[in-house]
Amino acid sequence: MVKFLSKILTAICLFTFIGSQKTLANDENKKFVYFTFDDGPTAKNTPMILDKLKELNIPATFFVVGKLINENPQVLERIRDENHAIGLHTMSHNRNKCYASHEAFIKENSELRDLLKSKFNIDANLIRFPFGSQNSYLRMDKVFLEKLHNNGFKIYDWHIDTLDALKPQNTGETILSICKSQFQKRFSENKNLVVLMHTNSNNNNTIEALPLLKDYFSNLGYEFNTLTNAPELYNIK
Ligand SMILES: [Zn+2]
Repeated sequence: MVKFLSKILTAICLFTFIGSQKTLANDENKKFVYFTFDDGPTAKNTPMILDKLKELNIPATFFVVGKLINENPQVLERIRDENHAIGLHTMSHNRNKCYASHEAFIKENSELRDLLKSKFNIDANLIRFPFGSQNSYLRMDKVFLEKLHNNGFKIYDWHIDTLDALKPQNTGETILSICKSQFQKRFSENKNLVVLMHTNSNNNNTIEALPLLKDYFSNLGYEFNTLTNAPELYNIK
């Protein structure tokens, strides 16, 4: 009887052990894709993107431009109220102004962070550099990165570029095949995957691509998340 009981106990322990191992492994194996939209809030495109994200139940991250917030404050409030993340994309998006010096870039993003906090009660410290952190106007190096970190900012470039800024005329299907090709060539092992998109007035085809992209990444086992839950992402050459 004692032997029988101890066998059962061993079996239960083993089962519990395997069960917990499985749960742990599953957590570690989770994969996340982060859709990001630069250059808003715009009057028409951003609300249409928000409608589509709501329909698809996808959380996303919007890197907003200060001068557009003054033009479309109600659109910014919608991004906030629909629980998307909001990041910084300078006040002016003007390469001559925002990239005049490290200090100019930090000032533009600090000003934007203050505006978001004081007028909209939004805490934002994620930065997406216009044209990326390795842009040809003021490239981020270790010294610049340290200054940004000292000011409490976190930097996010991207893995997959939908090319919707360069070629907004591309159809949703073409945008999907561009993403597929970049994913398969370079990022198929990634557990975190950041996708660059735009919400300019000419980005209607980006909206068309969203359901296709959702299906593609969901079928690969990715879950959707906002960048507030992701590690920083940049290259320093
Ligand atoms: Zn931009």
